[in-house]
Amino acid sequence: MPPVPPLPHILEPGDALDRWLAAEGQPTWRAKGIRQWLFRRRAAAFEGMTDLPKGLRERLETSFAFWTTTIVRHQRADDGTEKLLLQLADGERIECVLLRDHAEGGPRRTVCISSQVGCAMGCVFCASGLDGVVRNLTTGEILEQILRLAHMLPEEERVSHIVVMGMGEPLANLDRLLPALRVAQDPDGFGISQRRITISTVGLPKAIDRLTAENPGYHLAVSLHAADDSLRTQIVPVNKSIGLADVMAAADRYWEASGRRLTFEYVLLGGLNDSPAHARSLVRLLGDRAALVNVIPYNTVAGLSYREPSSAAQATFLELLRKAGVNVQVRRRKGSRIDAACGQLRRLALGDRPATTSDQASQPSTATIASTIPRMPTSQTIQ
Ligand code: SAH
Repeated sequence: MPPVPPLPHILEPGDALDRWLAAEGQPTWRAKGIRQWLFRRRAAAFEGMTDLPKGLRERLETSFAFWTTTIVRHQRADDGTEKLLLQLADGERIECVLLRDHAEGGPRRTVCISSQVGCAMGCVFCASGLDGVVRNLTTGEILEQILRLAHMLPEEERVSHIVVMGMGEPLANLDRLLPALRVAQDPDGFGISQRRITISTVGLPKAIDRLTAENPGYHLAVSLHAADDSLRTQIVPVNKSIGLADVMAAADRYWEASGRRLTFEYVLLGGLNDSPAHARSLVRLLGDRAALVNVIPYNTVAGLSYREPSSAAQATFLELLRKAGVNVQVRRRKGSRIDAACGQLRRLALGDRPATTSDQASQPSTATIASTIPRMPTSQTIQ
């Protein structure tokens, strides 16, 4: 017998649901109601969509997959950061994180999501790319991460921000990422304004130009990590065939189209890119761009020999940037004690079995959480 094809994923955008409803003889307005249940009312299963006729709920259950992932691990830090290791239908694993913050505008609930299984960019210090890329995530899998994390919030709270800074290179999977972000923005989807969505990229000029042409409304963050080509190629190998000049030019075109301040990320690696000379070289590269530099002290990855920058090196680096008039923000990774540097948990957990295989896996038991989470101090973000 030929293998039974998997059920279509209800989160996959397109007209599959509308066509199915028509074939079932249902009115087309049902689709809107079902989507509201998915994204706004956060039903945990078709069965919970209580204002749909029972027969329709049962038919949905056998016609569409609701959750395609299972939760392998769920960790929670004292600062409220929660991290999920998800197993996909084909057994691959990805990570996603919920961050709780208080900013000027009120409480922030940020989800950090992955775009690929693994990563092909090969940044030497990053856990996500150590084994290369396995595959792109589907649009439904990207959305399911947001949904899984949204389900961890109390009813009165909503996801307010999205950062595509998990595993993978988002601009290498734009075809699936952009439709997911459209649903994230849609008032009938998660309803998150585009200004609150950040895409972090290693800097792929052609893909940045595509984004510039299609939709420059997202907040773009470009990972630099070095301000000259020879050091950048050493740290970010993909730079060899691209070069900083092209990355900066594409970033400038994005900025011109969007009018929004660009962010450049710079991971400080002790003894490698954290000297005063490196800071001055970064100042020169940025020139008079109205940019924000996000300095990220390296978060150690098990098995890699890169070091965190010393406090003195960090302080000098920051001071040199600030004195030169550069806008700088230091990002202390939240929940670092729960292996929040993406890609780490996936590697550490190799061999684990899923905590549960049921569709209700979005609510792991307290026992699961307590047994996997070490005591940890609260991490902080310093402006
Ligand atoms: N591929 C995208 C998204 C990667 S993750 C990109 O390159 O931007 C988002 C940021 O976290 C990147 O700047 C990445 O370089 C950084 N990062 C990855 N591993 C890290 C680690 N161990 N410590 C500190 N920052 C890290």
